Amino acid sequence: MERYDVIIAGAGHNGLVTAAYLAKSGFRVLVLERRSLVGGCSVTEEIWPGYKVSTAAYLSSLLQETIVRDLELPRFGYHVEPKDPPFFSPFPDGRYLFMYQDEKRTLAEITKFSARDAERFPAYEAHLEKLAIVVESLLLTTPPEFPPTGPGDLIDYLKLLGRFRKLNTASLSALVKIFTQSASDFLDEWFDSPELKVTLATDGVIGANGGPRSAGTAYILLHHVMGGVGGRRGVWGFVRGGMGAVSEAIAAAARNHGAVIRTDAAIRRISVRNGRATGVVLDSGEEIDARAVASNLDPKSTFLGLVEEKHLPPEFLTSIRHFRCEGTSCKINLTLNGLPDFRCLPGAPGPQHRATMHLCPSIDFVERAWDDAKYGRPSHAPLLEMTLPTIYDPSLAPAGKHVMGIFLQYAPYTLRESTWDQLREPFADRVLDIISEYAPNIRSIIDHRQVLTPLDLERRFGIAGGNIFHGEMSLDQMFLMRPVAGWARYRTPVKGLYLCGSGAHPGGGVMGAPGYNAAREIRKDFGKLL
Ligand SMILES: Cc1cc2nc3c(=O)[nH]c(=O)nc-3n(C[C@H](O)[C@H](O)[C@H](O)COP(=O)(O)OP(=O)(O)OC[C@H]3O[C@@H](n4cnc5c(N)ncnc54)[C@H](O)[C@@H]3O)c2cc1C
Repeated sequence: MERYDVIIAGAGHNGLVTAAYLAKSGFRVLVLERRSLVGGCSVTEEIWPGYKVSTAAYLSSLLQETIVRDLELPRFGYHVEPKDPPFFSPFPDGRYLFMYQDEKRTLAEITKFSARDAERFPAYEAHLEKLAIVVESLLLTTPPEFPPTGPGDLIDYLKLLGRFRKLNTASLSALVKIFTQSASDFLDEWFDSPELKVTLATDGVIGANGGPRSAGTAYILLHHVMGGVGGRRGVWGFVRGGMGAVSEAIAAAARNHGAVIRTDAAIRRISVRNGRATGVVLDSGEEIDARAVASNLDPKSTFLGLVEEKHLPPEFLTSIRHFRCEGTSCKINLTLNGLPDFRCLPGAPGPQHRATMHLCPSIDFVERAWDDAKYGRPSHAPLLEMTLPTIYDPSLAPAGKHVMGIFLQYAPYTLRESTWDQLREPFADRVLDIISEYAPNIRSIIDHRQVLTPLDLERRFGIAGGNIFHGEMSLDQMFLMRPVAGWARYRTPVKGLYLCGSGAHPGGGVMGAPGYNAAREIRKDFGKLL
């Protein structure tokens, strides 16, 4: 029987990154995925014949350049088309705001709402970039030991502090603020126009369990500018072939380095002997041994689902049970036989169809949407973000047809008065009512629809609570504290068992960073055994 050095549980893009780096370093690697395709939340699925749908993640920006380069992903088909214009926000009064890659055009758009805001916008972008550069330098690093236990750990903390040494008081206070402020407070310090503020604030609430006025949402806004396309920071784009092409490219790189990837291979249990992970048992009963196991599953699914309780310290289990991972996002995938015709900008195709189309007129509107979710109800009027990948890549649908993704907030995982199985379709109908207010033809151009509530995200992608980041990205669940204090260094209380998914630092998004960092730590622990 083939014996592997490392088994990767789950073929999400992070698990595949870990697999590729370890295989590249000479480890014998086996990846086991429960679904019949690789990619986890970064997949392209043909859910209707001829339509290739990025069923979950839909835009790329965060995937770390180092990974793209090291794994030679373009050689394996990875290509991103920058989204331009990035945003289109229509408003109920008939006005609209575009943001373009070209700054001059963006400033002209912002001037329609506030000349003062247009003047301030370049400084705002520079400010965000400066903060992003500092935080970005931590993405591909392992958080220091917490609490520090020896001189080596103290050196790690000094190195960490060294990164902030060059910042002046203003920059340091800006950093503290962005980690703790609400997106709304952060934006209020810069701009007057409610229309501009809400357009920018949406990035602060995507995937968040909070509204634009909730503390901590300013950081999520920053998290969304921590990448780029083609070397241009903050730019997001459509992946040719859909988001599955990211995962397929990483999988191809992993295979190229010798990793074996098996799909339809659900893991039932991680085997532990004498406090050490020794392999896995599949749902089929098959047992496979390895020197180490890296779990790409979220922390709750890993420790409450795959590891027997007796192998874990009770205080660790309690912390994992308290790890917050209830999602608030819903994804609706549609196929269209035409394009939405906006009241405020009739005609198609137009630049609006190339953009992320935001339907959320003001910060108050989004905050009210969150108010509903706080009390366990789907938002009566949710924030909608719509994209049309077929405008950039017509091969995703039959000729003349389109795929449209609607990502929306808020759809709380836990409902007080109903269940998602009862509310799924009525909620989607309500969403279409809202779109009809802006683009009255929407219902007449829909051929198919798929509605993925947080419950469906949990069922389909195996993410506990349907949280798109494998766990809230709040200050108390980040960096030294992700997933729980004392266990942020990819290792776990079970020797030889590692976390390599988004529940580990630096969190969610199609970024590859947790997978990259986990591979480095596994190499450190096991490299000498090879
Ligand atoms: C609706 C939605 C929209 C999103 N939009 C974006 C976006 O546009 N851009 C962006 O950057 N990010 C987006 N995200 C976030 C991003 O997709 C995720 O944070 C990221 O893909 C998670 O990657 P991962 O590899 O850590 O885990 P996952 O992708 O969750 O992979 C875990 C893998 O483990 C497998 N697995 C689970 N249980 C078992 C088992 N028992 N045995 C074997 N395998 C198992 C799963 O099937 C899965 O393949 C979105 C997420 C969702 C859900």
